[in-house]
Amino acid sequence: MATIVVYVEQENGKPIRASLECLGAARAAAGSQGASVVAVVARAGAKDAAAKLGAFGAAKVVCLVGAARPSADATARDVARVVRDQKASAFLAAATATGKDLAPRVAADLDVTLFSDCTGFEAQGGSFRVVRPWLAGKAIATLSTQAPVLCATTRPNAFAIAEVGGTAEILDVAASDDGKAIVTSVAPKPGGKLDVKEAPVVVSGGRGLKAPEHFKLIEDLAAAFGNAATGASRAVVDAGWRPHAEQVGQTGKTVAPQLYIAVGISGAIQHLAGMRTSKVIVAINKDAEAPIFKIADYGIVGDAFEVVPALAKAVQEVKAHK
Ligand SMILES: Cc1cc2nc3c(=O)[nH]c(=O)nc-3n(C[C@H](O)[C@H](O)[C@H](O)COP(=O)(O)OP(=O)(O)OC[C@H]3O[C@@H](n4cnc5c(N)ncnc54)[C@H](O)[C@@H]3O)c2cc1C
Repeated sequence: MATIVVYVEQENGKPIRASLECLGAARAAAGSQGASVVAVVARAGAKDAAAKLGAFGAAKVVCLVGAARPSADATARDVARVVRDQKASAFLAAATATGKDLAPRVAADLDVTLFSDCTGFEAQGGSFRVVRPWLAGKAIATLSTQAPVLCATTRPNAFAIAEVGGTAEILDVAASDDGKAIVTSVAPKPGGKLDVKEAPVVVSGGRGLKAPEHFKLIEDLAAAFGNAATGASRAVVDAGWRPHAEQVGQTGKTVAPQLYIAVGISGAIQHLAGMRTSKVIVAINKDAEAPIFKIADYGIVGDAFEVVPALAKAVQEVKAHK
């Protein structure tokens, strides 16, 4: 029986959403092949997280325990060992900062290629294949491999979480503690804001907002949703209005939220490259000819300074009646 190994990140014993989506991608593809899904968790809190993963599609969870010094290279070696031991034909991790650090090391250890930031993962005959955007999202490639293991990272928000409600067999394995690159501390981001890559709703602002202080409108709309992150075009990041961590696009972050709201953003190809796979795109722009409207599902031609506060008020009202 084919096996898919998934690396699941966790914070304080809680699996992160992007990893549960990755597990969901594996579960969905495994279903049609009768394949088994094995999750791997590591670091402090791993045991608590492991206990939750059966409910999200894992048949077995390998818990890497006992490492005093967290290290991506040591964890990658352990994960590659699990892939070999399980005779897995696919390995997946979420394309988060941690996943992007870990997955290439796992692929290198296994001596196979890595398909990064995939938006599709499916069974094909007795093996698996991935789907990923190419050329800044202008083409979609479907890729398979001749290698014994297909290694891939999955784009956050691109896959559904599988809430199957089962239980998993949990196996404790001693983690390697001889890594070369050691993580000495991790500090939470000031303000505890949601990351633009992981938030289900992203409200982004561009040069149409005219001045940095007007981003209060963007922040207020994001706050009205409650589960939204604020994003920005490169023009306003280059102008120093917003931090680079918020930049969406070719030279910023690639996002795929359930809802992307672009305010005062023209829709240059480099911006579209970072957000065109969003599920629903709403554009607010006073120029009806702005290119952003070509890819928007809903467009509001109007002045951001009137439309955005009205939208924030409407969202608040809807939420108050829920
Ligand atoms: C190599 C390279 C990489 C790049 N990478 C990125 C990237 O990662 N991300 C990115 O975003 N860009 C990137 N760019 C820049 C990109 O080409 C654009 O210059 C940039 O996206 C424009 O930002 P903007 O839409 O905020 O500004 P503008 O293009 O100036 O658009 C402002 C928009 O606001 C509208 N507007 C004005 N006033 C109002 C109002 N009151 N209400 C509503 N709408 C209003 C205007 O009609 C206009 O459409 C890159 C460029 C290059 C060359």
